[in-house]
Amino acid sequence: MTSESTTGSTDQYTFQNPVTRFESITPPAEHTAEPGLESSMEIKADRGETSYRGTGRLTGRKALITGADSGIGAAVAIAFAREGADVALSYLPEEEGDAQVVKALIEAEGRTAVCIPGDLKDPAYCISLVQQAVDGLGGLDTLVNNAGKQVAVESLEDLSDEQLDHTYKTNIYSFFRVTKEALKHLEPGSAIINSTSIQAYEPSPTLVDYASTKAAINNFTKGLAQQLAPKGIRVNAVAPGPIWTPLQPSGGQPKEALPEFGKDTPLGRAGQPTELAPAYVFLASSESSYVLGETLNVNGGMPSP
Ligand code: NAD
Ligand code: MG
Repeated sequence: MTSESTTGSTDQYTFQNPVTRFESITPPAEHTAEPGLESSMEIKADRGETSYRGTGRLTGRKALITGADSGIGAAVAIAFAREGADVALSYLPEEEGDAQVVKALIEAEGRTAVCIPGDLKDPAYCISLVQQAVDGLGGLDTLVNNAGKQVAVESLEDLSDEQLDHTYKTNIYSFFRVTKEALKHLEPGSAIINSTSIQAYEPSPTLVDYASTKAAINNFTKGLAQQLAPKGIRVNAVAPGPIWTPLQPSGGQPKEALPEFGKDTPLGRAGQPTELAPAYVFLASSESSYVLGETLNVNGGMPSP
């Protein structure tokens, strides 16, 4: 297959009703272990494996994606490869099995996949990750800060200092650290894309630690975009709504909220990871050359600023 390949009879360009493009899922009210694994999800997520069609929009690009083994990051990695990019994948060592599935899909497109497991809470890994990506890809021009930790807790009194520390280190400290290291390599034309959330503006009462990191990511995106604009490096963000990924059944939502996950959106269903991929492709590609500091909301119609 090539980066111009069509993978099935229906792809993201097929005219279709967004209400029924994917079925409305009703996950069981059960928690799996953290980090959630794609391989143990009872209801499979759609990362575009059989549907995403590339049209050469990222030909020759070299991208590092964190949290690339599963969910949204995996959908972005698959899409980037089909658009012609080589991809370095960051993920936790426990997620090796999920990462190998994504690696094989990238290689099936004739693209390079560089696997770099490690813990983004560790400042030394944030630095070595970038160095290994540059070595493995022969350079770097696209960074997707996408890794995230989300664990619902009923009350602030029950939020452990350890969870607070881990959520902040994963969700926002790592964005600063990885981006700072990447700037040593990013040439004019490069793009940085940060995964934020609808939670940045509409925090759930059970997610005060997580939601506040997402507000920080939006602010970081808008400030850094202005700082790096004169260098020709564009910074933007994507804000997903409720998307069916391993994050959700592994503690991201209170158990009892899982059966209703995503049903309160105007479209009436949870989103699938592959529905996020075109937003990241657009922001990575030079076609968005005048788009900077933007947060692109992909959330099934929930009103957002
Ligand atoms: P996911 O579990 O598939 O991906 C998150 C990834 O983060 C994991 O696969 C893991 O590799 C990585 N990660 C977590 N802690 C890490 C650590 N300490 N070191 C290294 N990697 C670590 O879930 P997802 O929903 O695809 O999440 C991707 C991004 O999308 C996250 O930033 C999340 O906050 C954001 N998001 C998700 C939703 C949703 O509804 N699923 C909504 C809004 C925003
Ligand atoms: Mg994962």
